[in-house]
Amino acid sequence: MGGMPSQQTYRSLSYWLSSVPGELAPSDPLPGDLDVDVAIVGAGFTGLWTAYYLATSQPGLRIAVLEREIAGFGASGRNGGWCSALFPASLAKLERMAGRGPAVAMYRAMQDTVDEVGRVAAAEGIDCHWAKGGTIQLARSAAQLERAASEVAEARKFGFGEEDLRLLSAAEASERLAATDVLGGTFTPHCAAIHPARLARGLAEAVRRHGVAVFERTPVTEIAPGRLRTPAGTVRAEYVIRATEGYTPLLPGYRRAIAPVYSLMIATEPLPEATWEQIGLAGRPTFSDHRHLIIYGQRTADGRFAFGGRGAPYHLGSLIRPEYDRSPAVFAALQRSLTELFPVLRDTGLRDTGLGDVAVAQAWGGPLGVPRDWCASAGLDRATGLGWAGGYVGDGVATTNLAGRTLADLVLGQDTDLTHLPWVGHRSPNWEAEPLRWLGMNAGLRAMDWADRQEARTGRQSLVAQFAGRFLGG
Ligand SMILES: Cc1cc2nc3c(=O)[nH]c(=O)nc-3n(C[C@H](O)[C@H](O)[C@H](O)COP(=O)(O)OP(=O)(O)OC[C@H]3O[C@@H](n4cnc5c(N)ncnc54)[C@H](O)[C@@H]3O)c2cc1C
Repeated sequence: MGGMPSQQTYRSLSYWLSSVPGELAPSDPLPGDLDVDVAIVGAGFTGLWTAYYLATSQPGLRIAVLEREIAGFGASGRNGGWCSALFPASLAKLERMAGRGPAVAMYRAMQDTVDEVGRVAAAEGIDCHWAKGGTIQLARSAAQLERAASEVAEARKFGFGEEDLRLLSAAEASERLAATDVLGGTFTPHCAAIHPARLARGLAEAVRRHGVAVFERTPVTEIAPGRLRTPAGTVRAEYVIRATEGYTPLLPGYRRAIAPVYSLMIATEPLPEATWEQIGLAGRPTFSDHRHLIIYGQRTADGRFAFGGRGAPYHLGSLIRPEYDRSPAVFAALQRSLTELFPVLRDTGLRDTGLGDVAVAQAWGGPLGVPRDWCASAGLDRATGLGWAGGYVGDGVATTNLAGRTLADLVLGQDTDLTHLPWVGHRSPNWEAEPLRWLGMNAGLRAMDWADRQEARTGRQSLVAQFAGRFLGG
């Protein structure tokens, strides 16, 4: 990651960063030693939301955010833009960890968080193309239909009603989203589609307005109680917050804390209105289906598909390299999945790219952070002043906001509903040493892919996927 990337390089990191208004030129780096009350490492959503709630709850608090590249460089500037109430640990798992009440409280807090993101964006004048259209998840095989039904049954068991998650008939599902092979699906209203880089860059501006110092192009090389080190100098702070998600293993002492897993995306050229009339997604609900190897999409405010999926291999030693953002094989598979879902895309007359039938404007990827037990956490060790939040897997867009509010409460010593949620202070175990981690992860990813194909062929639920899901945490 050496050298000084140009603004153009930052723009190439995602369709979102390429289309965000304003400059992407980094602000001044940390000039030398510094004393603050709270130092935050990482200017993604986690770091920025934490700074935001600290600065607005206690104006005058001296807060510095230190970012290796630019605000929004990481997953926060590259994701699918689902601001959803999804949490990476299931209700059943949270119940085992903390009991039924706390498990339900966690999920209810996530639902509120979706609206909180929209509220702050509006209050701070951040035009992040917010559209709370919910999520439609299609069932496109008998096995997927079974999974959809058991998801709804599980939600009911925990007291979540029709207004939270409901089963759709084939007709109801197709009416919202006319994809191929639709047998039914599920719908939840608890999701907004957003333009994530507009939110990340807008938040960075907002926290600056509230008095936070954001130092870009400032790599933190070591975190310790009361201080952190950068090439330009040492920052002393009563509280040091780690908000580094997929990049965490690069910090000394954290190699096995989080595994970076790559998710890759494509954005099409804007589609003609007539095509959207055939496809649907009126009101911009985000969409997916019930396959194992996750796909996710949204209709952007400017009429494109932004569509992504996991499936890029995990890299030995939790390595992060710019070339891992780009896998021609995965980009081609994404194009194939999209045209399989919506064959009408072949007739739009939009072509080029060499990748396939749909005109792709940009293709990109980035690392998300997977903890060994797939349970995100936020916490503060009062003895050392070290705080953290992360491990969101693919569900960080809203969860980071909850993390920011929670970390602000913890730092300010406030005992609130948020500080009692079951993820607070949770410690995920470390990942296995290599090469076991690499073998397990990639075997799991392959098994999910294999199970999807088998299910598509046979229509029956695959046992392999259930075992793989167990290794991958689920
Ligand atoms: C392709 C993709 C699609 C996704 N889709 C969705 C989605 O639709 N919905 C959803 O909810 N979630 C999604 N996610 C996950 C979500 O984007 C993340 O969980 C979330 O953005 C994490 O925010 P963060 O601030 O914790 O981490 P990041 O945004 O990764 O920020 C970490 C920041 O820390 C900086 N940093 C790291 N180490 C250092 C250091 N040593 N010194 C200084 N700075 C450092 C990095 O440069 C980076 O800017 C997706 C992720 C990816 C990659």
